[in-house]
Amino acid sequence: MRILLFGTDGQVGWELQRSLSYLGDLFCVGRDHPEYEGDFLDPNGLVRTVEAIKPDVIVNAAAYTAVDKAETDQETAFQINTHSVLALAKAAERHQAWLIHYSTDYVYDGAGDTARDETTPTSPINVYGETKQMSEQVIQRYCSRYLIFRTSWVYANRGNNFAKTMLTLAKSRRELSIVDDQIGAPTSAELLADCTAHAIRKAYSLSQTGSEESIVGIYHLVAKAYTSWYHYANFVFDIVRKQGIDLTVETVEPVPSSHYPTAAARPHNSRLDVSKFEQSFGLTLPTWQCGVERMIKELTEV
Ligand code: NDP
Repeated sequence: MRILLFGTDGQVGWELQRSLSYLGDLFCVGRDHPEYEGDFLDPNGLVRTVEAIKPDVIVNAAAYTAVDKAETDQETAFQINTHSVLALAKAAERHQAWLIHYSTDYVYDGAGDTARDETTPTSPINVYGETKQMSEQVIQRYCSRYLIFRTSWVYANRGNNFAKTMLTLAKSRRELSIVDDQIGAPTSAELLADCTAHAIRKAYSLSQTGSEESIVGIYHLVAKAYTSWYHYANFVFDIVRKQGIDLTVETVEPVPSSHYPTAAARPHNSRLDVSKFEQSFGLTLPTWQCGVERMIKELTEV
């Protein structure tokens, strides 16, 4: 199997370099690759890369993910998240390749307090969500072999993330105010990458016998159980304290999103139902606490 991975240096892309490496011949193409074109501002360059590599599977981990900046930088956001994805969808179709793509809980408006499954109609409330909704639509329209994974609240051990930021603040401040009215599931890039590798194996093997139709589609792929940013932070503080590490923070106050106005509106309810993914791929997704606890222990254990 020949796999072409775009967006190699992001949270998910980095983990995919590991998890896809044993599936076949993996070509990792970042934005500044010396040989192949990987800049999502240039869809034609991406197509030339597909033509040159002739992959069986294209995995797109590149995206414009600056949610607030997208409100005023719409052209760039649509170019990277929609127009280039359209070019990839058409190129994948010409080569009868699989296209694996990531989308987001931000395709939903976040109303209500129940978990959404994949049949729920999308209605984004910010520009980033619109660009991702359109990426789903162009893939569905122009590509016959695709898997789209809608995920949420992604974090990775590498680089910055919410838990690390909160820990830094908790070591220097006595009081913290943290948003408590957005509910979702923190999901590790590691989990996404491992699940993607498993899903690709299944999808590719089905397509070898022409029976892939049953698996093509959109899937919600997040860790199980839900939390708010406030409870997520407290969970992190508890783990660290149990390890005997002192924190300066004394008061952690739950506040509404309106306490921290942002350019882009965020959905309040990001609960995603993962039953379809679990049943289709025969996996049991762990709770969000498993991944976060592991990350914090790796960070703090000596
Ligand atoms: P990151 O922001 O960590 O990574 C995105 C990657 O895209 C970076 O490597 C970035 O490169 C690259 N990129 C940006 N612009 C371009 C460009 N013009 N050409 C080539 N590459 C470019 O995102 P994640 O790994 O967290 O996200 C992976 C997927 O998951 C995305 O589709 C995202 O929409 C989706 N998702 C993410 C969530 C999250 O909380 N992060 C939540 C829900 C869905 P560079 O570093 O050079 O800018």
